[in-house]
Amino acid sequence: MLTDNIGIFTERGGTIAFLLDKKGIAVVDSQFPDTSKHLIDELKKKSEKPIELLINTHHHGDHSGGNISFKGIATHVLAHENSKKNQEASAKAQKTEDKQLYPDQTFGTTWCQKIGKEKICLYYFGAGHTNGDSVIHFEKANIVHMGDLLFNRRHPYVDRGAGANIKSWIEVLNKTHSKFNRRTRYIYGHAAEGFEVTGTSEDLKRFSDYLDSVLKFTEREIQLGKTKEEFLKNTSFPGIGEWKGDGITRPLGAAWDELNAK
Ligand SMILES: [Zn+2]
Ligand SMILES: [Zn+2]
Repeated sequence: MLTDNIGIFTERGGTIAFLLDKKGIAVVDSQFPDTSKHLIDELKKKSEKPIELLINTHHHGDHSGGNISFKGIATHVLAHENSKKNQEASAKAQKTEDKQLYPDQTFGTTWCQKIGKEKICLYYFGAGHTNGDSVIHFEKANIVHMGDLLFNRRHPYVDRGAGANIKSWIEVLNKTHSKFNRRTRYIYGHAAEGFEVTGTSEDLKRFSDYLDSVLKFTEREIQLGKTKEEFLKNTSFPGIGEWKGDGITRPLGAAWDELNAK
């Protein structure tokens, strides 16, 4: 638990947040079909209230794959309109349409609703990790779920196929930083081994600097006349900070394609 009534669940996949209010339960993200059942079991032990709302930060399977476990349990499923479109498109492509529970509610730029004493607001600040990532604020508790807009000290996945854009992602992080305050606590989709899935606005600043460094480094390498193959052999870059682990080719490859698409 992060507060009296807001907690996180981290079995496998993207970090889940939940709100237990006397009027009902809200859940942010659902991981996978098996782990979401474990979450629902835990929630039932803590509260007899109905699950009023299941929110997806975005469509990826490690965040929405468990939606199906909420079928007939959650009153509403909510996500950004692009997240719903992406979920439908990838389920169709992977032939997993029968394993999906899609949002019955979507929003464009802002969405707010009170659940008992808490007010939940969703914001869309533009393309980032995909083109459908929501920033979710529990106003009273002043806790923000970032989904995969923040990979804490771990190289991010950049889903260009679903409209991701690194330049815009930096702006999304800066807009988020200015929207909330110094006391805001943040929840992250993923963190590297040894790092937390929660933190402060300082992490947003660091990650935004990291993404900026990815773009600057890539731009220099393009100017040097490197091929993409040569470029992807890089195992580090100036400004990498504490970001580590495998998968450095994901942001580098995405930056390469983004800059060359111009
Ligand atoms: Zn994820
Ligand atoms: Zn993701």
